[in-house]
Amino acid sequence: MLPQSVQDALNDQIRDEFYASYLYLAVSAYFESINLGGFARWMLVQSEEEREHAMRIYDFIHERGGEVVLQAIDQPPTTFDSPLAAFEAAFAHEQRVTQSIHNIYALAGSENDYATQVMLEWFITEQVEEEKITGDVVHQLKMVADHPAGLFMMDRQLGARSE
Ligand code: MG
Repeated sequence: MLPQSVQDALNDQIRDEFYASYLYLAVSAYFESINLGGFARWMLVQSEEEREHAMRIYDFIHERGGEVVLQAIDQPPTTFDSPLAAFEAAFAHEQRVTQSIHNIYALAGSENDYATQVMLEWFITEQVEEEKITGDVVHQLKMVADHPAGLFMMDRQLGARSE
């Protein structure tokens, strides 16, 4: 049986993953609006991945005989000051997600809920990668700064991302 406290935390996490999906869609729309289609495509794929993260937890709660409670999702920012600001917002959100996954892992441990811990191990590994990739783009954007040639090169590179 899924402990109530863990179930509540997992339902909060579903909301946060959907928010991530929504935030990245907002970032993708921003990049579309400034004609950086490669960045936009990369963020669209990222948005879809976040929805899959939410659905992993959704499926897990059902497998454990728990109850999924879908919550309201906050409105993401409607625009960003720069490509760097947009990626910094994504990076900051990934750091928050990592922290909340770690918190749920610790909570599940305190409840002797080992099955939830095993499920969350996939997320812990995934977050290392998410923070690395998003953090790398932030650093690269700082390097290219005001040089459009660098931005266009990054746009081509990021646009090559597959599903
Ligand atoms: Mg995620």
